[in-house]
Amino acid sequence: MAKIARIEPITIAYADPNDFGTVRRTVLVRVETSDGVVGWGECIAMWPEACRAVATIINDGLTPLIAGDTADDIEAIWGKMRRHLHWYGEGGIASLAVSGIDMALWDIKGKVANKPLYELFGGLKHARLPANASAHVNKNGEVACVAEVVGFFEAGFRSTKLGFAKKGESDIGGNPDIDVHFVKELRAALGDKAEILIDIGNGVRWDVRTAIDVANRMHEHRIGWFEEPLYFTDDAGYRALAASTELRLASGEREFTETGYRRQMEYVQAVDVYGIDPARVEGITGFRRADALATRHGKTINAHAWSTAITTAASLHLSLASPNAEIFEYKPFGVSVQDDLVAEKLWHRDGWAYPIEGAGLGIEVQEDVVRRLAE
Ligand SMILES: [Mg+2]
Repeated sequence: MAKIARIEPITIAYADPNDFGTVRRTVLVRVETSDGVVGWGECIAMWPEACRAVATIINDGLTPLIAGDTADDIEAIWGKMRRHLHWYGEGGIASLAVSGIDMALWDIKGKVANKPLYELFGGLKHARLPANASAHVNKNGEVACVAEVVGFFEAGFRSTKLGFAKKGESDIGGNPDIDVHFVKELRAALGDKAEILIDIGNGVRWDVRTAIDVANRMHEHRIGWFEEPLYFTDDAGYRALAASTELRLASGEREFTETGYRRQMEYVQAVDVYGIDPARVEGITGFRRADALATRHGKTINAHAWSTAITTAASLHLSLASPNAEIFEYKPFGVSVQDDLVAEKLWHRDGWAYPIEGAGLGIEVQEDVVRRLAE
């Protein structure tokens, strides 16, 4: 079996129309085996200093540690990396670094087996999942914001997830009355069947009382779940909120490890839907461990795939192979790291996310595009 011959972290930067043109960064990882098979992974480090730190950990720490190891011995390599990194990272930057390498090793394993990854995960649990347009509410005025979401459904999406208090021209996320009114107008415009998920997110600062009030008022408009209305470590707040609303609560995309999900599911016991990002949560291996916990506890999972097509591909295989996924998120506006980075854009058909049938992640990463976006 082939050995790990080369590991290369590559920081890329791109302007994202889905985030009001903001320049976002991420670290791609290219792993090559001794017989020339190449796998790709991603570490969603985002900030420039975090990207530099991830690249340093991979170049100076993990590459010397695992170079020469048998490439398909992923479980052992994953454990070896974690045992090395424990000194400075049960979570955080260290988990980002593990994520990219682990994802690339899974891509290689699938390519060598000539099977799509979902087959290595035990096969499909869903033939397809409803396609969700995952967007930020950032246009000027409520009418424009509602019209934009109506457009997603006209384009075939069956579900939408809307981030509040993001960059842009909208005042959504700043005043609970305005926020609830927006959801009411959206429901009126979309009709009864459209799935609306609300992602309150990092820009909103509510106390628990406000979160409870908004949750119950939005529940009247039948939203599907209420994501991160409080800071993600506010355990007491989430418990109080869960006890005071019928609305399903979502959180978890900021967790780095299986341990974080175990703490949420076994100790906090307030959240129904767990976001999991394979480019953050110690890779595909970490994702599957968190997903197994969700199975044991009867929870829903949702792949956080809001970066490049590499993470989107990993998320799609993982979601379709998980009994716990309900939807699959796409960025509705064209962006280079989704459209140009891979030979064939990953996109829904008639509002459904279908499996990718190529081997491994099933994508052909365009190295010239990677080099063009590289910092
Ligand atoms: Mg979110």
